[in-house]
Order: sequence, then structure tokens, then C-alpha cells
Amino acid sequence: MTLLVDTTWAPASSKRRFDVENPATGEVITSVPDGNADDALEALRRAAAAQSDWAATSPRSRSEILYRAYELITARADEFATLMTTEMGKPYPEARGEVAYGAEFFRWFAEEAVRIGGDHFLTPDGNNRVVVRHRPVGPCILITPWNFPLAMGTRKIGPAIAAGCTMVFKPAELTPLTSLLLADVLREAGLPDGVLNVVTTSDPGDVVGAWMSSGLARKVSFTGSTAVGKLLLRQAADTVMRTSMELGGNAPFIVCDDADLDTALDAVMVAKMRNMGQACTAANRIFVHRDVMDEFARGLTQRMSTLTVGNGMSEGTQVGPLVERKAVDKVEELVDDAVRRGASLQCGGTRPDGPGHFYPPTVLTDVHPESALMSTEIFGPVAALIPFDGSGIEADDTVVAAANSTPAGLVGYVCSRDAERLDAISSSLAVGMVGVNTGLVSNPAAPFGGIKESGLGREGGRLGIEEFLDVTYTSTPIRRRR
Ligand code: NAD
Repeated sequence: MTLLVDTTWAPASSKRRFDVENPATGEVITSVPDGNADDALEALRRAAAAQSDWAATSPRSRSEILYRAYELITARADEFATLMTTEMGKPYPEARGEVAYGAEFFRWFAEEAVRIGGDHFLTPDGNNRVVVRHRPVGPCILITPWNFPLAMGTRKIGPAIAAGCTMVFKPAELTPLTSLLLADVLREAGLPDGVLNVVTTSDPGDVVGAWMSSGLARKVSFTGSTAVGKLLLRQAADTVMRTSMELGGNAPFIVCDDADLDTALDAVMVAKMRNMGQACTAANRIFVHRDVMDEFARGLTQRMSTLTVGNGMSEGTQVGPLVERKAVDKVEELVDDAVRRGASLQCGGTRPDGPGHFYPPTVLTDVHPESALMSTEIFGPVAALIPFDGSGIEADDTVVAAANSTPAGLVGYVCSRDAERLDAISSSLAVGMVGVNTGLVSNPAAPFGGIKESGLGREGGRLGIEEFLDVTYTSTPIRRRR
């Protein structure tokens, strides 16, 4: 395994390193090797060399490795959660939640690994026997963002291992440490050399560019921004490489006039505030029927303004820092722009002094449709409320049209007490996933993913492993006896 970690593992060929910072304090935690295109190609050559032996292993043995890794992550949950909170900022209890969620992908794909199967049938004319096989696509490039440092990795590595693919893995430069610990655990679980190769780098374009143009990889699985996803799709075209793209969202959250407001408030707090709002699934545009707007805005302001903000490792912290200073600058600009365009600030909105990259929980009402945050992922603890009017189907149609008026189509949420209305609205939303009276849609058993510019392919569920399998068949004429 080519693991670029610390001096006990392989260093970068340049011997350069880059710092990893704790966003709650602004202090440097440690540094990691700064891989370049040479390191990248060496890692991919090792993956390519290991591919045929790895593909020949039994599904059961691959399943057992994943299951052992699931148990090791679970046993080392405190270590994983502490590392994640320290490098990324999320409150420790949320990090523990991510450890449980992230580990589940290994358990799920341990179970899927032994059910790859195939198909066997006679053609309708009875003249040919067709045998359909599913085989690993080959060496894969895996690229993850910083916001869920463990789960984004296990959601890709799990199905790749289950399918029998080798891989090169580039974690986000802001949060490489959790991924390196994950690689360590996989090694301990028995993953053979060469199957997983991790390259940490401060220059993702250089490393990933070398992989994409090498001709050695057969698949790229990317989670991150839509802009980088589009770049990779263009690069993948040169070798007609298979792609899975989990890209940005701009989730609408709809509160109908007949919604149970306590349920809606519980749901919006999860959908908005998980990970300090730094999730592709975060409620970005909260559409509230005007008849319930005052009560909903009061309830939300009360909940948001009483949250405890602080270092994620401190007892009682509910909201940690944003991942870096640039993220706070962006959120501040979006809030200032919305206020300039007429939004009212109900709480928050002022960046605190002191170390760490903090931004307070903020509620904006009467957000103008032309505000920048309507078309941009806020990626921060800012709830933007937009009123809608009308009654019955007319109101529903109005809000669905507004919700769908964006190129993104990852997730949406709807709250109502009327089952028929929930069904009509959720089936009209142009998104891959809908939370119905809930703020949480993710589950390893479900096919996570978006439509429109939010991506291609699915992670999790049965489809998650199919992303890493090629389908081939043989056709054999049947000799008939006279
Ligand atoms: P990003 O696109 O900046 O970075 C994602 C990854 O791509 C990182 O590993 C980064 O190093 C790498 N990268 C950056 N430039 C690259 C280049 N030129 N070539 C190749 N790789 C490159 O995104 P981010 O800021 O880390 O993450 C936030 C974004 O990710 C948001 O848009 C969010 O919605 C999205 N996201 C989507 C999902 C999903 O499942 N759909 C999940 C989490 C995050």
C-alpha cells in the first residue's frame, strides 16, 4: 500500500509536507506529505498492478475484510471522532454519529459483496444461451470532500472493495487525517498491498490530473463541488472512463400551511444545522407558507439563538466552527447581500472576534429571490426563510415551481399533515431524494444521489456496488439434437 502518511510511512517524493489546521483554534495539528504527480502515478501503477489478483479473490474474503474493518472502526470510534472533530470542527457527538454512519457502509457492502451474482437465460427464440457476468471495472480514482471525512470515504471504498476494484484515494486537503486512519484500519483488517493507495496533496489538480490522463484508471468516483465535477467529466471523456458524481445541492425545504410546526422545526434544525450547515443535503432555501410564517420564524429563531457555539471537543457544544476562514468570509458575504436586498435578520449575522472560524446561527426572513444565497450553497449555519402564498393545489404548484427553479437537484424536504399532498409535492420535486416530515434522508441501504447538475450515479443501496461493476455477457448457440 502506498500510503503517504508521516515519516513511518512513505513520504512524498518531493519530501514536502503541508499543514493540517484545527478550525476551532486556528492552530496547526500536524503536517502530512504533499504528494505530486509522480507520487500519484506511482500509487496508480501499484493499484493497476494489484488489480487482477484482487479481482480473483473470493467475494467472501472481500466481505470478511470489510466486516473486520467495520468492527475495528466501531471499536476505535472515540479515536475517529476525536480526529474528525479536531481537523474538521464538527461537535464530538456529531462526529460519533458520523463514525456509526460511516462504518455502516462497510457492513452494508460486506453483505452486498457476497450477492453480486449474475444471470443466465435462453434467448426468446431458444437458439442461444446467454451468461451475464458482473466484474470489477478496474482501478478506480476516489476523491472526497472535507465535510464528512469518514463517511464520504467509506461510501466509496466499501463498494470498491466489495466489487473487487483496486483504488487510488485522494482525501480533501483540509481533512486528510481521518482518511489516513481509515487506511490504517483497512490494512489491519487484512486488505492486501496495492489495493488501496492514498495520496495526500495540497495540489489536487496536479495529482488528479495525472491520474485522469494516465490511461490506467477505469473509473472516477467524485464527491465535491459541481464545478470540479464538471472538470472531471471533461477529463474522463478522453478515455471514456466511467464516472460517479455526487455534486452540490441547493435543497428546498417546504413548510405547508397544514404542517405540524413542531415536527417541521425539528426537521429543519437537522436539515439546516447538521455539520454547521456544511452538507450537500443542507436546507438552503426554506419556503414557508405565509399563514404559518410568523409562528415558524419565531420558533426557529428561538431554537437557533439558544444553541451553544464553541470548540467541538468542549462538553455541551452544539455548533462548531466552519472549516476554514474562507468559508466564514463566504457566509458573511451571502448574509450581507441578503440583508442589502431587504431580508430581516432575526438572530446572528455578526461574526465574532477571537480565534477559530466561527459564525453564529443566523435566521433571515423575507429573503428576496434575487439574493445570492438562493442560487449558491450557503454551507453555513444560516436559515433563509422565503414566504409563499395561495391555497391548496395552487400554493403547492407555486412552491414546487420555485423549489425546482435551480440547476441543482440533490434533495428536498416537505412538511405537511396531508398524506396526498406530501405524495404530490414530493413526487413533483426535481431531486434525487425527498425527506418527508424529516430532515434526514441518508442511509447506507438507500441509493443516495442527485439528478440534474447534482450528479450521476448512486452511492449506497444495491446500486452503490453496481457503480463499480461492469456488465458483460457471453452468447453461445445451442446445438439442437435431432
Ligand atoms: P471541492 O470540489 O472543492 O473539493 C472536493 C474534492 O475535490 C477535494 O478532495 C478537492 O481536493 C478535490 N479537488 C479540488 N480541485 C480539484 C481539481 N482541479 N481536480 C481534481 N480534484 C479537485 O468541494 P469541497 O469544498 O471539498 O466540498 C463541498 C462541496 O461538495 C459542496 O458543493 C457539496 O455540496 C459537495 N458535496 C456533495 C455531496 C454529495 O453526496 N452530493 C456530499 C458532500 C459534499
